[in-house]
Amino acid sequence: MTQPVIITVAITGAVPRKKDSPAIPVTPAEQVESTHEAFEAGASVVHIHVRNLDESPGSAPELYAQVQEGVQKHCPGMIVQFSTGGRGREQSQRGAMLYLKPDMASLATGSVNFPVGIYENPPDFVEGLAKVMLENGVKPEIEVFDLSMLYNAANLVKKGLVMERPHVQFVMGVPNAMPARRSVFDFLRGEIEDVLPGATWVAAGIGRHQWEVNKWCLESGGHCRTGLEDNLRITPDRLAASNAELVQKIVDACAQYDRRPASAAEARQMLGLAPAH
Ligand code: ZN
Repeated sequence: MTQPVIITVAITGAVPRKKDSPAIPVTPAEQVESTHEAFEAGASVVHIHVRNLDESPGSAPELYAQVQEGVQKHCPGMIVQFSTGGRGREQSQRGAMLYLKPDMASLATGSVNFPVGIYENPPDFVEGLAKVMLENGVKPEIEVFDLSMLYNAANLVKKGLVMERPHVQFVMGVPNAMPARRSVFDFLRGEIEDVLPGATWVAAGIGRHQWEVNKWCLESGGHCRTGLEDNLRITPDRLAASNAELVQKIVDACAQYDRRPASAAEARQMLGLAPAH
């Protein structure tokens, strides 16, 4: 039977890059428009960072609220996922918008080196953020940037800080963190079945690894993540025209792997989220 794939689109990264593509949506209005195009193309989850007017990484809950409201209005049922990522934000600000009760939020369960500097997630901070999510009914997407984070997530489930059957993302190809190697991917797939039975999972390939990792996921029953946050190129020599174009690339490949894009309602069901109202 053709298995549905939940496609997550990461529309805007936290930090502007030197050669950012003009296709990256920055203002809430641009973000809603770009999300809408990606939704029409087949994405069912949107991963959101916000930026300030000067394009520096934002943390203002008002910005998150504007994007959330626009997505709910224009993309019926689409799953809204806020980033609690660290780049450009103090730890104390990273969960400051969770009272808005997005469907999901990212939760990195350990520390790791990034291309520049340390992505710091000490144990008490991770537990605190998990608690705030639990209190607000926000489902975490566990971000696994390095191996230990998978087992840390299993411990959070044991402690009752994360609900059973969590959604986990393997992030592969960040320089200084976990490499995008097939052997590592296969190992992680085996481990998650063992330590987090019933969990759903997705993998993100960063930069030039994006498409390769998308195909691994389609082939092996995982879900897919794409978007301009992770990679700006549709082919090695051409920038993607939009987030929707990156989503469409996965949708077009689905049939080849006996997959089809999940609708937002199906994605909600697979992730154990309440139906949209
Ligand atoms: Zn992100």
